[in-house]
Amino acid sequence: MKNFLLLSMLLLAVHGRGPGGGARPMPSTGAGAGAPAGGSCQNPSCSSPPCAAPLLGDVGCTTVSGTETYAHELLPAGSTINSGAHIFGPFEAGFSSQQDNIIQTWGCSTPSVVYDSEGGTDISIAEKKVAYACNIEFPRLEGGTYYGVVGPCGGHTNDYHFHRSLSCLYSQAGGHSTKVGETASHSLYGKWEDYDLQRLPLLDACGAHIGPTPESSTPVYHYHVQDQAPFTVGCHGPSQSGGLVSVALCRSLYSDCDDDGGSGTTITTKTGNVQYDRFCPCFDASGSNMGTNIQELPALSSSEIYYSIDAGATTAATTTVNTDATSLTTTPATTTPATTTSTDLTTTASSNDGSCSQSCSFFDRMLRRCHPCPPASQPGANRPPRGTRGGRREGRR
Ligand SMILES: [Zn+2]
Ligand SMILES: [Zn+2]
Repeated sequence: MKNFLLLSMLLLAVHGRGPGGGARPMPSTGAGAGAPAGGSCQNPSCSSPPCAAPLLGDVGCTTVSGTETYAHELLPAGSTINSGAHIFGPFEAGFSSQQDNIIQTWGCSTPSVVYDSEGGTDISIAEKKVAYACNIEFPRLEGGTYYGVVGPCGGHTNDYHFHRSLSCLYSQAGGHSTKVGETASHSLYGKWEDYDLQRLPLLDACGAHIGPTPESSTPVYHYHVQDQAPFTVGCHGPSQSGGLVSVALCRSLYSDCDDDGGSGTTITTKTGNVQYDRFCPCFDASGSNMGTNIQELPALSSSEIYYSIDAGATTAATTTVNTDATSLTTTPATTTPATTTSTDLTTTASSNDGSCSQSCSFFDRMLRRCHPCPPASQPGANRPPRGTRGGRREGRR
């Protein structure tokens, strides 16, 4: 128990520092056998959308419970994650010597190689950076234990908070995924627009779209979990007119977006260097969160609210919108498989970094970590001058 609490405290320290971060209260002592939900989850309000979402802290709260499938850190497999848990955005606050023990448990013998005093990298790019710097496979499943910045359900620490996935809160079955949480005044659902038909939602920069849900036959603005950053919520929509939120509109909500004079941060991964803008949660169709050459998300230019990831297996004509946001292709009612790399989950995987050369492993597929390859990121020039960071607050815990 002592080690459990110590590790939890260290993990909490991941969020307890970083730009704009303040002192955090010590975690409550929870039951060791489970992952007690934070009773203090504070769902933010957004009375006049669109609004920026907190960059560190609660962007929403879960409304259902789930069970962790594999052991992670010191949480045993089968741990219950109670309803009312924190939902965070994609970012971690950085790594320092305070996290040495955790970093070593990942299999990284020299923790200092992943120190990051600035923070503001999303979970996926942070894991890619660790994998490269420590020369390990990360995340990975090893002997029933999951090694990753977050666990297989997408969250971590004793005062459990989700950053992504939430996969243990809904079943991979049926039509539209069930509701898993609330973010501001809207609902968050699992990743599927229709699991049986293998349809994923086309989402705006906030991570939402307008369509029917299990709770509403009338189309409503609602969020879906997604495999790419921002994973949960990029901002609180909808637009002022009640529509979808563009990448540019999302970025206008955050002083951290393109505040770096145009260069961003170079993050090295096993598949190459990635230009990245810390603490900017607005990702375009290419997976880039920076620059003026925005590849607008396909949701903004399509009347479709979903795309099919399994066009080759469909029995009826389906419309598929590639994630490169520009091409709308119709697949006839035949057995001709879709050939675009952007929809081929069996051969490619990518994250928010625009790199797409690594293969999608069985483990990736099992965890539904594979997603369409975006086109190469093309960072633009002529960015606005460096601004003042602001609008970030440490979330209540
Ligand atoms: Zn976290
Ligand atoms: Zn939906």
